[in-house]
Amino acid sequence: MLMGTVVESANKLQEVNGSVAVKNPTVVFVLGGPGSGKGTQCANIVEHFGYSHLSAGDLLRAEIKSGSENGTMIQNMIKEGKIVPSEVTIKLLQRAMQENGNDKFLIDGFPRNEENRAAFEEVTKIEPAFVLFFDCSEEEMERRLLSRNQGREDDNIETIRKRFKVFLESSLPVIEHYTTRGKVRKIDAGKSVEEVFESVKAVFTPKEEKAD
Ligand code: ADP
Ligand code: AMP
Repeated sequence: MLMGTVVESANKLQEVNGSVAVKNPTVVFVLGGPGSGKGTQCANIVEHFGYSHLSAGDLLRAEIKSGSENGTMIQNMIKEGKIVPSEVTIKLLQRAMQENGNDKFLIDGFPRNEENRAAFEEVTKIEPAFVLFFDCSEEEMERRLLSRNQGREDDNIETIRKRFKVFLESSLPVIEHYTTRGKVRKIDAGKSVEEVFESVKAVFTPKEEKAD
C-alpha cells in the first residue's frame, strides 16, 4: 500500500490527501450536446490511445447511487437538465483522477459552463491540452437520445429539450472560449460511429505518424 508516502517516478507522482496522483496529467475535454456521441467515442479513444475516461454525468449518477448526502440534490438537477454546482463535480473529477493513476484523461461532459471552466482551472491548475467538440444537429441528437435505452431518467423529450437549451446557453460559450485560444478540434458527429472515429483518430494521431 502507498498510504501517506510520496512515491517519485520520473517526477510524475505527488502525494494528494494521502493518495498518490500523477502530477500535471494530460487532460482533453470532450464536449458536445447531449447525445452527440461523447461516451461512444471516448470508449474508442480509451481502447486505441490509452486514455482513461471520466464522464461527469456518470460520476454524478454514481454519486446518487452511493447514497451520498448530495444524492437527492443531484438527482433533481439531472431530472431538470440543470448544471450541478461545480464544487460537487470538480471534487468527483479530482477524486477520480487521483484514484486512477493514469497520466492521460478524457473529461467528458465537463466543463458545462463558464463557471465550471474557471473553477476547474483555479482549483486544479490544469489547462486542457485541447478540446474535442462533437458537432451534431439537435434533430439527430434527439433521435439518438430517444433510442438510447439505458433507462436514464433524463432521456425523455421534456428533459431533452431543457438539456438542449442549457447546452446552447451555457455550454457553447465554453467552446467559444477555447475556440478563440485555438484549442478546439471540431468533429462532424452526425455521421456513423465508424466515420466519426476516423475523424477522432486523426486528432489523436501524432503528426509524424500520419500517412501523407
Ligand atoms: P453522449 O455521451 O454524447 O450523451 P452517447 O455516446 O451516449 O452520447 O450516444 C447517444 C446514443 O447514440 C447512444 O445510444 C449511442 O449508441 C448512439 N450513438 C452514438 N454515436 C452515434 C453515431 N455516430 N451514429 C448513431 N448513433 C450513435
Ligand atoms: P450527461 O451524462 O453528460 O448527458 O449528463 C447528464 C446530466 O448530468 C446533465 O444534464 C446535468 O444535469 C448533469 N451533469 C453532467 N455533467 C455535468 C457537469 N459537468 N456539471 C454539472 N452537471 C452535469
